[in-house]
Amino acid sequence: MTIFREADRPLTDDEIGDWLRDLRGKPYSIESGFDVTSVFRARLGAADTFYFAGVNVENPDHRVSTHGEEGAIAAMVVALGRKAELVEGWVMGAPRGLEKGTDNPLGNVEVSCCGKCRQQIANFASEDVVIHSVALNGSASTTTMGRYLPDQFSFRQFRPAAAEDDATLPPAPTAAEIEQRLVRTGLAPTSAEIFDWLRSLESANAASGTSDAVVLKLTDGTLVAGVKIEEAAFQDVNAIQCAAAIANAAFGRITVTEMWSFSQGYPGDPDDAFVTPQLSALQTLLEFAEDPDMPIHLFNKAGQQRDTTLAEAAHKALTPT
Ligand SMILES: [Zn+2]
Repeated sequence: MTIFREADRPLTDDEIGDWLRDLRGKPYSIESGFDVTSVFRARLGAADTFYFAGVNVENPDHRVSTHGEEGAIAAMVVALGRKAELVEGWVMGAPRGLEKGTDNPLGNVEVSCCGKCRQQIANFASEDVVIHSVALNGSASTTTMGRYLPDQFSFRQFRPAAAEDDATLPPAPTAAEIEQRLVRTGLAPTSAEIFDWLRSLESANAASGTSDAVVLKLTDGTLVAGVKIEEAAFQDVNAIQCAAAIANAAFGRITVTEMWSFSQGYPGDPDDAFVTPQLSALQTLLEFAEDPDMPIHLFNKAGQQRDTTLAEAAHKALTPT
């Protein structure tokens, strides 16, 4: 799987550089033509050699575009849950179509993380975490999150209860379990199996306590999951952005034919409510939908399913009914 590796030793900088270059061509860089690829090493408890990759996924509404670093965070949270930590990062950015060895000077630029991504990373990383900026042609520079974002504002500052809660860690999943959380291929799962999958995923929801999870079906039947990832300065990644980021990093250009969605915890949300995704999330889905009338299936907490379409959902967004 190109978006996840579990290694029994730290990967070398050369291995990571090759991985970053292999991911080029996967970004959905329709607006900028600038491909960003990113790899993060993550830890859950004592296990710290989980690697997740991401690419930038743009949208005509630029506010719902996700960056390469956010894509890697998306895969990490779906795989390891909200208590995962980022422990090292690598990022590469260069115009689409350039290859290693190019004489274009932009092949030598060691691109840094933008301010939005620094803020996103800070919610999962301590100040001593090292970030490597790797040029397409191979040179690299390093910095730390403390230098990138001094006096960082994160959930640790205003949610001490969440920090205490983080002391209790679930057991680290196996590589096979992680792959099952992210992507499923060659199967036609039942509605009940998809509900179990959605229910097993954890949103990073320290701000609201509400949870959103989705599964997207691609044209070849491949299923890809996503969850909501909240950020202390409200630079959130919604569940559809999350799944779209993972799907693009894994497969390149995607078309979505069907979606299942499960949300819980919203105010006034009784047990039997079906919650329609937010409009901003549907904006991401519109960009990849096979058809505006593509089917969407909403689950309530009892696992009952209500069928709607993307076009109909856009009229009813986020109304528990
Ligand atoms: Zn960024």
